[in-house]
Amino acid sequence: TGKKVLIVYAHQEPKSFNGSLKNLADEVLSKQGCSVTISDLYAMDFKPAATRSDIIGELYNPDHFNYRVECFEAYKKGRLAKDVLEEQKKVLDANLVIFQFPVYWFSMPAIMKGWIDRVFIQGFSYGIPGFYDEGFLKDKKALLSLTTGGDEGMYLPTGANGDIKYLLWSMQHGMMHFCGFQVLAPNVCYGMDNVTEEKRKEMLDAWAHRLQKIWEEKPINCQPSGYF
Ligand code: FAD
Ligand code: ZN
Repeated sequence: TGKKVLIVYAHQEPKSFNGSLKNLADEVLSKQGCSVTISDLYAMDFKPAATRSDIIGELYNPDHFNYRVECFEAYKKGRLAKDVLEEQKKVLDANLVIFQFPVYWFSMPAIMKGWIDRVFIQGFSYGIPGFYDEGFLKDKKALLSLTTGGDEGMYLPTGANGDIKYLLWSMQHGMMHFCGFQVLAPNVCYGMDNVTEEKRKEMLDAWAHRLQKIWEEKPINCQPSGYF
């Protein structure tokens, strides 16, 4: 199709189920004629911490370090750290960004959260004004593809963990939608820590199947009214 996909991937083990989901997406989308770029965060040893070293040269306000303000100013002057600029370029090139990760503490692993902290900065992905439906990445789609240790029953409204949509909200709305992304339905593989081999194959098949028609999908309702 000529579409471009960025997969932001966070798993330490290539043979993991997350690794298999990432490889499958790469394979299926490439076969469609999409060009796929992968940011393999652990392999890149991506720096997750938002620090002073993300700004090259002088600070805007050396007396009081404010990461948001400093990044905004550095972005305008092209003075952000090289690894951040490289990731921003990959995002700009992409029509669809897939985040592939295991759930850590009801959220994404720290290395991926750090990627969000450092890459989705003011001026690049959003402005004030310029967020949610007016976010700067509004022509792009985002999809969270995640695995959980807890089984599906635990993530039902009556389950011990509560409805999965609460876990997804901060990422889908607070991160993706805030930056304008049209949010596609998540791909959730439940109960990875005890599911059968057969069930794992089914989950991979379902993912491959879905990706065949991913470009026809409409975004989910990601407004506070309607989401819950
Ligand atoms: P793996 O263990 O790598 O894979 C599962 C199985 O799939 C393995 O047997 C593997 O060999 C097999 N497999 C791999 N590829 C294939 C293939 N192609 N075909 C068939 N089988 C294959 N869980 C929660 O639910 N909520 C939490 O809040 C939470 N917090 C966590 C916090 C931390 C710090 C950590 C470390 C874990 C947490 N977990 C939590 C659990 C975590 O989400 C799961 O362990 C993780 O999702 C499992 O995914 P994986 O890719 O690592 O699985
Ligand atoms: Zn939203």
